[in-house]
Amino acid sequence: MNLNAECILCKLHSETAIHLFFQCVTSQSIWIELDDFVIDVSDLLTRSQTVEGLLQQWPTHNSDSMGARLWALLPYAIIWNLWLTCNTLIFRNCALSLDQICRNIKATLWFWLGGSTLYNNFGDLLRH
Ligand SMILES: [Zn+2]
Repeated sequence: MNLNAECILCKLHSETAIHLFFQCVTSQSIWIELDDFVIDVSDLLTRSQTVEGLLQQWPTHNSDSMGARLWALLPYAIIWNLWLTCNTLIFRNCALSLDQICRNIKATLWFWLGGSTLYNNFGDLLRH
C-alpha cells in the first residue's frame, strides 16, 4: 500500500491533506478565485498546518446577512469540493476545469443555504 500517493490535482507532490487543500497550485487558484481579495487567503493557506486550524482562523463577520453566511461556509464548500474533485479524477478518470470546480463550489453553497431562498436562481449566485 502506497501511503505517499501523488497529488491527483498537480501530480507534482505527495498527496497530504495540507498539500491537497492548501498548498497545491490548483487548490490555491480556487481559494484565490473565490476569496475575491476579501482577505489575504494566500497568507492564511501558508500559515495553516491543519484543516481544523484554517477553519478556526477563517475570519468571521458579525452579521446574519447572506454574504456573511456565504463567507462562513466558503472554506467548508471549497474543501468538500476539492475532495469530491479528487474522487472524480480518481474513480471516473474525468478532469474538471477550474471554472467547473468553482461553479460546483457555488452550487454547494447555494444548496447548503437553501437554494432558491438565497437567490432567485442559481445564475444569480454564479454572477457574484
Ligand atoms: Zn497538488
